[in-house]
Amino acid sequence: MAQGNLKKTDPQVYESIRNEKNREHAKIVLIASENYVSKAVLEAQGSIFTNKYAEGYPGRRYYGGCEYADVVENLAIDRAKQLFKAEHVNVQPHSGSQANMAVYFAMLKPGDRILGMSLNHGGHLSHGASVNFSGMLYQNASYGVNKETGYIDYDEVRRLALEHRPRMIVVGASAYSRVLDFKAFSDISKEVGAYLMADIAHIAGLVAAGIHPSPIPYADFVTTTTHKTMRGPRGGMIMCRAEHARAIDKMIFPGIQGGPLVHIIAAKATALKEAMSKSFVKYQERVVKNAQKLSEELSKRDFRIFSGGTDNHLMLVDLTNKGITGKEAEIALDKAGITVNKNAIPYDERPPSVTSGIRLGTPCITTRGMGIPEMTKIADIISSIIHNSNEDKAIKEIAKKVKTLCDKFPVYK
Ligand SMILES: *Cc1c(COP(=O)(O)O)cnc(C)c1O
Repeated sequence: MAQGNLKKTDPQVYESIRNEKNREHAKIVLIASENYVSKAVLEAQGSIFTNKYAEGYPGRRYYGGCEYADVVENLAIDRAKQLFKAEHVNVQPHSGSQANMAVYFAMLKPGDRILGMSLNHGGHLSHGASVNFSGMLYQNASYGVNKETGYIDYDEVRRLALEHRPRMIVVGASAYSRVLDFKAFSDISKEVGAYLMADIAHIAGLVAAGIHPSPIPYADFVTTTTHKTMRGPRGGMIMCRAEHARAIDKMIFPGIQGGPLVHIIAAKATALKEAMSKSFVKYQERVVKNAQKLSEELSKRDFRIFSGGTDNHLMLVDLTNKGITGKEAEIALDKAGITVNKNAIPYDERPPSVTSGIRLGTPCITTRGMGIPEMTKIADIISSIIHNSNEDKAIKEIAKKVKTLCDKFPVYK
């Protein structure tokens, strides 16, 4: 986008944006929570709607001049309702964490108990981790994955629910590669009289495309981010049954937020429109196929994929048999131009700052147009780096291959 004014006013920020653009082009990004938005989404997000205060909701604002803010917010709401078949949608949360906060604040009292997935097993900070507000204000219990299979053990979830009697059960994860059984969670929630919140931050794009089952028929609340597989601007969203609409809307504003980010809401509307297209469905199918291919190719090269593979856009690679920590792998891969994040493997004996694994995801590389042949190449590259992590010369050679791949698949044409 044209940035002549920025260059003149603030050369340092201009320069950082230029450097970031080059970085995004020149690296193979396998961070499962990232993506590249379309130019249309960028234009909406970079628009003059950033100037507008619009406290309240369409048709009932606390500021004048909101007629066009109303238009874009209604577009975002209506599209999200149609796409996810939701009764009520709030598109104002500034982030996924704020969406979760609004649901908890609306439905729970401090000291109530939340049963969520353990952070160490792939859950999110906002599902009750002690360093997060959700762990400071509420009592917590957590479920994890089975040590042998790597899958969530639903009998164990039920046992914990009966033991701890939570007010809210949270299903959703940041590092779980298998299909989530929302009906099983719903049955357990009903049995213990708990609300069910499904946090689909990572898999929202797959759910929108019908590739992962939807929690909408089963969960009282569905929260998400809009910037991961959804490929929209950074932000959050809440979907719920009509009966909870008022409580949720009131908690977002005036409860925990002030004015909504109208430019972001405009970009959410555009991303939701894109998500209703056939090409978006194709894209999500390719995201999953690429993840499965990458996981197979890595397995062939003697990498242990946690749980044996993936049903979605990501996988956890257990590096224990490679004699390298997650931290070391992240650094070595970065030297060759591959961006990943170190990630604890469930039952990991190393601390979270070191870890025994890495998390890999395919949303970014699939947006660039990479497909099955590239997954084999990337598996080869990863394998060579991990097996030569101390040899800078070898890594320099591999970096050339990464550059070739990136130049063949530009992020923004
Ligand atoms: C990413 C994520 C969030 C939080 O999103 P932020 O926008 O970073 O606050 C919440 N829940 C899950 C499961 C996530 O993966």
